[in-house]
Amino acid sequence: MENTIVKTLIYDNQVRLFFVDNTKLINEILSLNKETNNILKLTLGKTISVVSIITGALKGNQRISLQMTMSDPKYKVFADADAKGNVRGYLNGELLKAPADYINKISLDRLIGHKGTIRVIKGSAMNQFTGITDMPYQNIDGDISHYFIQSEQIQTYIEANIRFGNDSCFRFSNAIYAQLLPGAMPDLIDEVKHTVNINREFFTSLNKYSKNNIEEKLSELFKDVKVIGYSPIQFFCGCSKEMFYGMLHSLSEGELKQAIYNQEAIDTTCQICGRTYCFNYNEIQALLK
Ligand SMILES: [Zn+2]
Repeated sequence: MENTIVKTLIYDNQVRLFFVDNTKLINEILSLNKETNNILKLTLGKTISVVSIITGALKGNQRISLQMTMSDPKYKVFADADAKGNVRGYLNGELLKAPADYINKISLDRLIGHKGTIRVIKGSAMNQFTGITDMPYQNIDGDISHYFIQSEQIQTYIEANIRFGNDSCFRFSNAIYAQLLPGAMPDLIDEVKHTVNINREFFTSLNKYSKNNIEEKLSELFKDVKVIGYSPIQFFCGCSKEMFYGMLHSLSEGELKQAIYNQEAIDTTCQICGRTYCFNYNEIQALLK
């Protein structure tokens, strides 16, 4: 199963366990960031992977939006998603332009550094909650688990595993999300972690399983497994041409007039999905009226 969150309850309804093989989604998003080096791909990939599994816990019109700020605060990563599994994410311009001698040598934990922070906005338009936590694990997934434990006071374990293949694509990417339900025995979260750790092969080969045999396999790993549903995840940017009129406004009037005079079009490209929107000189002219 690819790009499908498997939602389960385990240990007699004490733990909610979700997992997903999101290799396809992550590679799709990374193909939009071709020139990015591997450490930035890993940073973006892990962030998106984590956000994609959290969509399984959202309901109705709830959204989650995540901003990670590195110790050097000009470097940021953004990701957001909704309950329908629409996911997107991007590195900010400063990070994309980071000097090669800095970014080519750095590791993920050093990029995040000791002063990294995560800001999470979660909820629906009418009922939003913002929380900010530090990043003591400097590895993204551990830090987001830390966020849930700190701000929502819920024992949560989130893991995002990513491996590069021979090319710059990811060979596999998967995410696991486990959360204790009210009244659960506290040490169950460690038991889940342990089981995941000694069954790595299962989680890296999720694409071999289907809805017909996943519950049976899971029952070999955990007690009292109940599969309660499946939900898809997909890349969705949501940008539109209208949104890019604002970019034209940021150009000087002289530049716009020049384009009209030369009967040229101005192209703007969405940094998130790579879609290009073209404004012809008639459209630019309408802007100046
Ligand atoms: Zn877009």
